[in-house]
Amino acid sequence: MVPQALKGAYARDRQRLVAELQESGIEDLAILHAFASVPRHRFVPEAVRHRAYANVALPIGCSQTISRPGVHALHLALCRLTGEERVLEIGTGSGFQTALLALLAAEVYSIERLPQLADTARCALKELNVGNVQLATGDGSAGWPEAAPFDVILVGAAAPELPAFLCEQLSVNGRLLVPIGDGERQELVRVVRGETEFHVEPIDRARFVPLVGRHGW
Ligand code: SAH
Repeated sequence: MVPQALKGAYARDRQRLVAELQESGIEDLAILHAFASVPRHRFVPEAVRHRAYANVALPIGCSQTISRPGVHALHLALCRLTGEERVLEIGTGSGFQTALLALLAAEVYSIERLPQLADTARCALKELNVGNVQLATGDGSAGWPEAAPFDVILVGAAAPELPAFLCEQLSVNGRLLVPIGDGERQELVRVVRGETEFHVEPIDRARFVPLVGRHGW
């Protein structure tokens, strides 16, 4: 991908966002560099593009939203990426987080159930020459068993309960980040797969759109 940090429209807004993320406690330089490199405005509809670098969630169509940059940054930090990982993202949405992951990991698999969003994300990622991403359209609530195991699984929509079959698709030491709950109350949970057992750690309250599908709502 061509780093666009220092040129083009929105360059200053993007630098301001990176500074804001740093001030909020994001220390991982690779994550900050990814935010400086990926043009978020290319992943949101034109009508809200002027707010692309504000630290806010924005509508992306089909009643879905792109998360606040601060949320993406925090989730990426919780995944402890080194650049070597195979990652599964469930809920491609805008494709923005997919582009960040493509810079921060080795291989990214991403599934989106809504064809319209999947197509828009595919175009944006192609225009930016993001090469290490495999996209699929369909219900990702059962993961991507053919491509498992994954070192990291990020679920971008809230599941009704801890998805056991996703835990099974983790490699040893693999991390799963998933919001669990309904439209009223959700909690972000991190699961780490040990040699013999899974460690489940509640992280924080969360607010995501529902995971819709066979193993979703
Ligand atoms: N990280 C994305 C999140 C988008 S919102 C972003 O910031 O742009 C969550 C996305 O999950 C929505 O696009 C929604 O359509 C998708 N989704 C919900 N249930 C799904 C499922 N079962 N399989 C795949 N995608 C799903």
